[in-house]
Amino acid sequence: MAGNKKKKTKVRPLLPRPGARYTCFGDGLCCTDIHGIGPLTKKEVAQMRRIDRKSAGWNDDHDDYMLNTAADGGCVFLMSDLRCSVHAQLGPEAKPDGCRRFPLGLVATPVGGRITTEHRCPCRTMGDRPEIRPEDVESSISDGGSRPIADRRIKRIPLSAKKEIKFSEWEPIEAEYLNRLRGRESLLAILDAEPFPALRGSSWQGQAEEFIGARDGSQFGVAMAWVGDTIGALQNGRSPRPPGRPWATAFDRAQARSPKAGTSREVFGDWIADEVWSLKWAEDYSFALARAELATRLKIAEDICTRLRGSGARADRAAAEAVMMVEVVGESDFWTEVKDRMRVS
Ligand code: SF4
Repeated sequence: MAGNKKKKTKVRPLLPRPGARYTCFGDGLCCTDIHGIGPLTKKEVAQMRRIDRKSAGWNDDHDDYMLNTAADGGCVFLMSDLRCSVHAQLGPEAKPDGCRRFPLGLVATPVGGRITTEHRCPCRTMGDRPEIRPEDVESSISDGGSRPIADRRIKRIPLSAKKEIKFSEWEPIEAEYLNRLRGRESLLAILDAEPFPALRGSSWQGQAEEFIGARDGSQFGVAMAWVGDTIGALQNGRSPRPPGRPWATAFDRAQARSPKAGTSREVFGDWIADEVWSLKWAEDYSFALARAELATRLKIAEDICTRLRGSGARADRAAAEAVMMVEVVGESDFWTEVKDRMRVS
């Protein structure tokens, strides 16, 4: 329809995903070395340096401007009570944009701005959290004034490599997925995709070795080793030798404030639902590829979760730690390369 072609994307009204829950409890994970803390714009570097001359600068490892970390891997502005000193002394608007937004995001669609959340954050994945309300998060996803800023704009949906549909056609399809994800059905059955699809010019075993070799002393490197180790175990049945627990102290704090344990199914279902809702995949990939990619990371996460439970972790915490790892790795260039190699029609 000609009218639909002209339809623009918009950021208002702000639309949270029904059932998505989050508030910042200050578990402190996002202010530590998930990988690096940034990137920052040049203007933000200057602002941070005005507060502390050595707080930010060019980082060769990340090839970008980043906040500097202290010896414990935490941001130089992180106080011993895990509050941000910039926030405490100058207010939230004084923080770099990424700090203000995380773990929230915004995708502009023809019907409004979808509020999205990352799940590499125990405040998002564990405990008794309130439902996300636009009025509570609007300032985080807006610029200095009151203008919500979109991370991406999605008008049409690539269902497969050969089929693209209008956003209005996508909405009922997605609603059914989201509804099923809230239930008890097997998540792999809902995704209806084979994990570990064939890779162009590589093998899963080769990827596993590359991931294990990417350890760089950061917590990200430990998560990479977990994922690589698990891929190797799932592919070849070899016994995994999982490395230490990255970010365990932040999850200790999350567990201490969450007396009621949830199930791993709830944690995983909530994560997959937000991955679908975010429409990140629609920028470069099809829904068919996204389902195979999510099925792969889910399979890895479930295996990690089983091992963490075997070492005594509570079900919701084990799942939250597993999601943390597969999401951190999923956001990396390493995983983008894997996705680019996936052969899914
Ligand atoms: S500036 Fe504040 S919010 Fe940002 S990483 Fe540092 S402590 Fe955390």
